[in-house]
Amino acid sequence: MVNDPLKNAEAQLRSVAELIGLSDKEIKILLKIDNLLKGEISIKDDKGKIKKFKAWRSQHNNARGPYKGGIRFHERVTENEVKALSIWMTWKCALAGIPFGGGKGGVIVDPKKLSVSELEKLSRAYARLISPVIGDKKDVPAPDVNTDGSIMAWMLDEYEKKVKHGEPGAITGKPLALGGSKGRPEATGLGGYYILKFLVDALGLEKKPTIAVQGVGNVGSYFSKFAHDGGYKVIALSDSRNCIFDDKGIDVHKALAWKADSGSFVGYSAGRIVSADEILDVKCDIFVPAALENAVRGDNVERIKAKNIIEMANGPISPEAEARLTEKGVIIVPDVLANMGGVIVSYFEWCQNLSGYYWEVEEVRKRLEDVMKPAFGNAWGEWISLKKEKGSKIPFRMGAYSIAVRRVIEAMRLRGKI
Ligand code: NAD
Repeated sequence: MVNDPLKNAEAQLRSVAELIGLSDKEIKILLKIDNLLKGEISIKDDKGKIKKFKAWRSQHNNARGPYKGGIRFHERVTENEVKALSIWMTWKCALAGIPFGGGKGGVIVDPKKLSVSELEKLSRAYARLISPVIGDKKDVPAPDVNTDGSIMAWMLDEYEKKVKHGEPGAITGKPLALGGSKGRPEATGLGGYYILKFLVDALGLEKKPTIAVQGVGNVGSYFSKFAHDGGYKVIALSDSRNCIFDDKGIDVHKALAWKADSGSFVGYSAGRIVSADEILDVKCDIFVPAALENAVRGDNVERIKAKNIIEMANGPISPEAEARLTEKGVIIVPDVLANMGGVIVSYFEWCQNLSGYYWEVEEVRKRLEDVMKPAFGNAWGEWISLKKEKGSKIPFRMGAYSIAVRRVIEAMRLRGKI
């Protein structure tokens, strides 16, 4: 059982390399992390005590443009996780066809244990650490797990203090007042909803599938709301403690409003409350993991009853689990495709910052769909061709990876790097 995200990222690249005929030398070059910044940041807590936190910024590959990727605050962040997430960002940006490479940042911290002023100090300290390596033409961070627009605002402010000029394009996912884009907070969830529609069309489904969503943070909550509003029956939602299940369909807006007010799904007027982990057992048409890596692994994959999966989190299905599900005919829309909506609208935000001209939300949403539709269509077409040529047990991920990896290789060849 492999639960190291970096090993998973390497295994995924090796699988596609075998299919598209890459040499060991090319694999080695493609897996190389260009730069890894490691550091310890310290802040004075509200009682005046010094607290220290380990932090990283991983820059994987910038052959197609500046490094791009979120910043994660989580108590279980590891160096390998940050590296893996930066590799996945490279493939995601290439598949989306946007001019960025892959990066990612992380800090080992449970932000729920910090006061707002401590969180601000931590965010500013992290921004000081990474300031020398980021910038609108170098590396453009954004939010990820447990980070949001306010944290991006503190980081941008700290970065601009360091470089002594305004540079809004250095960080995306900012609040509107600091040059953020309309449509950015909901972008990843909305993009996932577009993917749901493309999948239903590609499969020729006449009846709308039922859906179970694991994790209702930024990504999972917007995804569920769009799916609900689009007429899909969301029958289960989970957070890190509980799962709410209702086979008649959950009123997502009401259930999430209840959770926002009371802190959990417990006590909500409809449905049944079970433990968070039981989301895996739900009989649904589409399972949507939207929390963290390795939610489905070799040791729990047999519990999955869903016919298909949309990976809204990064790396939620381990390669071993993916192989077993693919064997059974489960189609898994891979993370690099399913959750690309966030980085695409981050790219729109960056374009708006560089040009100084801002778009309406309708334009952002339309352009998002315009970028995602061909990304899905290309990956799907490539997957069908690979299956015809190499056999039916090839995961959908390989269609997406084949396109993304070949685009990165092309850019590296043109630069004489491969
Ligand atoms: P978030 O911090 O807003 O939400 C994560 C949620 O997962 C939290 O609500 C947490 O309670 C929940 N969670 C944790 N463990 C869980 C468990 N075992 N079961 C159920 N829920 C659990 O983070 P987010 O931004 O929504 O990111 C979620 C995933 O999507 C991550 O893998 C992230 O890398 C990926 N992603 C995020 C974006 C983005 O724009 N925010 C873009 C692309 C990919």
